[in-house]
Amino acid sequence: MPRSTVARVGGAAVAMVLVAEAAVWLLGPGDEPPAPVPVAAGDYFGQAQIERATDYRDGQRWLMYAGLAIEGAVLLTVALGRPAPVRRALARLGARPILGAVAAGAGVSLLVTVVTLPTSLAAHERAVDAGISTQSLGSWAWDVARSAAITAAITAAGAALLIALVRRFPRGWWAPGSVAVAGLAVVFVWIAPVVLAPVFNRFETLGHGSRARAEVLELGRRAGVEIGDVYRVDASRRGRSLNAYVDGIGSTKRVVLYDNLLAQAERPVLRSVVAHELGHVAHDDVPRGIAFVVIVAPLGLIFVRELSRALARRAGIEPGAPAAVPAYLLAITLATLILNVPGNQLSREIEASADQFSLELTDDPRGMIELQRQLARANLSDPDPPALPSLLFGTHPTKVDRIGAALAYEREGRS
Ligand SMILES: [Zn+2]
Repeated sequence: MPRSTVARVGGAAVAMVLVAEAAVWLLGPGDEPPAPVPVAAGDYFGQAQIERATDYRDGQRWLMYAGLAIEGAVLLTVALGRPAPVRRALARLGARPILGAVAAGAGVSLLVTVVTLPTSLAAHERAVDAGISTQSLGSWAWDVARSAAITAAITAAGAALLIALVRRFPRGWWAPGSVAVAGLAVVFVWIAPVVLAPVFNRFETLGHGSRARAEVLELGRRAGVEIGDVYRVDASRRGRSLNAYVDGIGSTKRVVLYDNLLAQAERPVLRSVVAHELGHVAHDDVPRGIAFVVIVAPLGLIFVRELSRALARRAGIEPGAPAAVPAYLLAITLATLILNVPGNQLSREIEASADQFSLELTDDPRGMIELQRQLARANLSDPDPPALPSLLFGTHPTKVDRIGAALAYEREGRS
């Protein structure tokens, strides 16, 4: 690659990261919780559990790296116009560019699913061996097939939109592209809980008289938080993991609790989870996540433009041709991977803030500590994972930090 191209791609990458860091600063919670008390994992978790968790999580992480490496290598090969039969097939799609982009998007998306099947399958088998997943191979394969079909459809539609914009605005497509990304992010978050999630799971609203619903209402009233609906999801059909989350916006805003959690959790633990989720609602964390995407989209797409142009030029492919779709997908994958680092940094701050909200609302640090212990046990999380993967991929503070935050609240925060 010529030096000027390297400078342009590198410059776009740096600008993208700087804007993302600015977004983290802008969207981060205002008042930071007190620093967590340093905690040794051995004080809260048995040695055998720590060893099993470290072993399991290390292995899953290497499988994830391997999957990413395979995906990157395959996308790069196709983006550079190799092997020849694939290049010829992609070139033929140029006769009808928009339909061609649909075919190229769906095809490449399915190819990525297929080439990463060995690592996904290995990760599934390890989850079954570790006792986290209880899913049969057939049921797992059906999940993979459905999610591959959905991803291929979304990629196909995105590729068609992208190629249409590139053909209409050869250099300036990133501007209308950013508007499209922002609009799609809002629509996606809005419809995901009612259109996508039900493809994979059953959701039921918590009935009147249910213990959890009473806790949600009581805590919500005390916190002055309006939460929309509270749902139970049948996570137990796949495994033993415990979780809860908030998603949707406007009419689809909801709190979702795993049935495993509802079945097992004692009152203090359940209250700590519910109060944490109410914290996300009170802090508008879902709209905050959308705002992050909206802010990083323009420079993210400029990076995508520079990198995909460089790849396409090298392969002798027109940027507006369907044959350029693999180059765009590679560039988008790389941009997403890079932007996830500041994105996860923001996520960890938001999660720490929701924990603090929970501690203040329940005034029960012991309930929070017990919650962290149960989460770690059920999900076989490494309570104190290595620093670098946590920095790059961690969406939540580590378990020892979350316990340390509860201890800090117990010691000083109550005043
Ligand atoms: Zn959370």
